[in-house]
Amino acid sequence: MSSPSIPHACMVCKRLLEWNINRKKWQHQRPFPEYGDHEAIPAPAMEMDDVIYRCDFCSADEIRYVVHVQEFIFSRVICREGDWGACGLCGTFLIADNWRGLFLQAKKIDEERKNHRWSEASSTRMWSMYDGIRTNVDGPIRQLAPGEAP
Ligand SMILES: [Zn+2]
Ligand SMILES: [Zn+2]
Repeated sequence: MSSPSIPHACMVCKRLLEWNINRKKWQHQRPFPEYGDHEAIPAPAMEMDDVIYRCDFCSADEIRYVVHVQEFIFSRVICREGDWGACGLCGTFLIADNWRGLFLQAKKIDEERKNHRWSEASSTRMWSMYDGIRTNVDGPIRQLAPGEAP
């Protein structure tokens, strides 16, 4: 059931999951634990017609742009090859090729949502993930057509 090569989503919360190499299982994505108060029940995303797609950068429930990223490994998690989704705001930063601004914007949104400032260590860690994404982008940012699924 659980091949990490195809995208899986959780049947409970309809969110995309990530494959943890060490635990060899699907888990909810971090650093957004608000969907993770239950054990993920994975199913191939392509078999579900109601997956809730989310901006991969700030977690807004909206995807207006996609950008193609090659597979890379960050902190024991396979960041799978494929289209990463961005909301309108994050897409604006991506079009401007402003990765530092994109990171700071996502950090601000997450800190406000959780009412908790990121530590220096988690800021450094998350920035290195954004840098990993940046160096593995292999195509232009593309705006989705109205009604087009990510
Ligand atoms: Zn879930
Ligand atoms: Zn966003």
